[in-house]
Amino acid sequence: MSFEPTALVRCASYEAAEVSAAFDALEGLLPLLDWVQPGMKVLVKPNLIAKRPVEAAVTTHPALLAELIRRLTARGAEVTVGDSPGGLFTKKRLEGVYATCFGSAIEQAGGSLNYDVSAQSVFNPQGKVLKQLDIADFVLRADAVISFAKLKTHSMVGYTGAVKNLFGVIPGTKKAEYHFRMQSVSDFCAMLTDLAEFVKPRLSLIDAVVGMEGDGPTFGDPVQVGALIASFSPHCADLAGSALMGLAPGEVPTLREALGRGLIPPDVHGLTILGEPVEDLAVPGYKSIPMRKQTGMDFADSKPFLAPLRGVIHRLLEQRPQLERSLCVGCGECARVCPAQAISMETGRPVIDREKCIRCFCCQELCPKGAMKVHRSAVAKLLQQ
Ligand code: SF4
Ligand code: SF4
Repeated sequence: MSFEPTALVRCASYEAAEVSAAFDALEGLLPLLDWVQPGMKVLVKPNLIAKRPVEAAVTTHPALLAELIRRLTARGAEVTVGDSPGGLFTKKRLEGVYATCFGSAIEQAGGSLNYDVSAQSVFNPQGKVLKQLDIADFVLRADAVISFAKLKTHSMVGYTGAVKNLFGVIPGTKKAEYHFRMQSVSDFCAMLTDLAEFVKPRLSLIDAVVGMEGDGPTFGDPVQVGALIASFSPHCADLAGSALMGLAPGEVPTLREALGRGLIPPDVHGLTILGEPVEDLAVPGYKSIPMRKQTGMDFADSKPFLAPLRGVIHRLLEQRPQLERSLCVGCGECARVCPAQAISMETGRPVIDREKCIRCFCCQELCPKGAMKVHRSAVAKLLQQ
């Protein structure tokens, strides 16, 4: 079986000259944009999960998006940048996120920003778990989609890159419904894989200039990686991205799913890497979140003979949200976004009903103050060593 080659180049900073040289290098390795036709409507889908400053390394850097837009418009494409960030999908929210994350970089480069918040339901007969999906109209209108992700850790699924980035095509609070419907990590990642196969991005890029380690995707720590990744397959781009974090496919649920569907080779060495070797750009000691403990939970769930021990195994291995009261300002955003309605505000602070909680970590992702932390048991921490 052959897989899409994946290009890996150095890019030490977001300085314009450095970024331009990195894109030149990528275009020298892959026919990155040769498919672009004059007049084509191209949607660039960055990671815009939250209204956070670029230094926080939460969102795709505007300098990279601007360089890509210039190259697309030079080929005659009409470029729109769009995403549905976490929480409500409204014009007002989009204005705030764009202003904080981009300033005027997108318009100055010749792109437009999407403000259309309409969506529709479409059939997806090829999907494994997602036979019908809700998708934002700005995605359906595009002739081609480019996923431009950010290399980060992710509390629920361990790693977020080109595939997880596409969850943002599901409009606003509909995302919470998907979390509620597909509560296990494996079902959720099967859904993400269905979504990636439905959207079929023409190109997947990952901003790994500065990535995120620790408790991503919104309050981990920025980490210098110094790389840009490009592939025509979002799954292959993620295989390379996770390897930079020192993760094997078995430790990343979206890659486990892709492997099961024959979309990636068993490990990164089965991939044709163009440019810099993975080993030269991998970050030693990257504080990643390998999902081995989740593998243990999935294993326990799939074996009938372990049914009596399931509760104990889950309690030992699962991570859960935990409030750090000193950081909480009582805004109630966590309660509003919780898909399981497991959070109630009591005397101005959130209280989590552990029985209702499905451990989706939307509260941790979307708390504007980083007050929702990820709690791991001693056994789970041991398994992550
Ligand atoms: S979103 Fe964060 S700051 Fe706001 S109430 Fe919840 S925990 Fe507190
Ligand atoms: S409390 Fe947090 S982790 Fe639990 S279901 Fe609600 S949003 Fe998800």
